[in-house]
Amino acid sequence: MRLDFYLSHVTELARKAAKIAAAKGRVTVNGDVVKKANYTVQESDQICLDSELLAWPSEGYYLLNKPAGYVCANQDPEHPIVLDLLPPHLGQQLNIVGRLDKDTTGLLLLTTDGQWLHRITSPRHVCDKRYRVHLAAPILDEAIQQLENGVLLNGESQLTKPAKVERIASDAIYLTIQEGKYHQVKRMLAAVGNRVAELHRDQIGPLQLDEALAAGEYRALTSDEVAYF
Ligand code: URA
Repeated sequence: MRLDFYLSHVTELARKAAKIAAAKGRVTVNGDVVKKANYTVQESDQICLDSELLAWPSEGYYLLNKPAGYVCANQDPEHPIVLDLLPPHLGQQLNIVGRLDKDTTGLLLLTTDGQWLHRITSPRHVCDKRYRVHLAAPILDEAIQQLENGVLLNGESQLTKPAKVERIASDAIYLTIQEGKYHQVKRMLAAVGNRVAELHRDQIGPLQLDEALAAGEYRALTSDEVAYF
């Protein structure tokens, strides 16, 4: 791993500040001053900043209550990104686990651990995602039955996998799906002649959105929660 990248993982220094700290001779690797930001460090190295021994980075796992108006991307020229909701040194390291649309709210996971991310998002692994869906029009029992059986999305050749639907009100349901196709929930509701007015994800697998987290707040997952996936 590059030295500046490593420093930005394990200290409060952003990448640029890490480069400057190294250039100023504040960093040693195995006792020798290293000024080059692109120097490669490895786990067996003893790396110090201002003579203080630093640890090798461990994986990070976070849960964010995504507010509306933020996009799930690493950068966006027009809109705020979800990573802006975390301190810069953390946001820079994390990958977004699946995508929610800009107007969708709720449970979003972030991690440094690529294999863990893959287990949640890969179509090869079965992982339920539950959405609370408010609809533009009341939903008929017949449409609920269609969603449960599988519907043909616009532009697709195969039916969606069977979904679980629980009615909340005449115009609101919980929809649990295992797939994560582009705009899947909105397209599923369009396929049964309705329209999504509000979309909120409250559960992934056994992990529920923490009601104590206001929109825009995040917390680290516990080790038990990490082990769900
Ligand atoms: N399905 C959608 O249509 N949008 C989301 O944000 C998530 C699932």
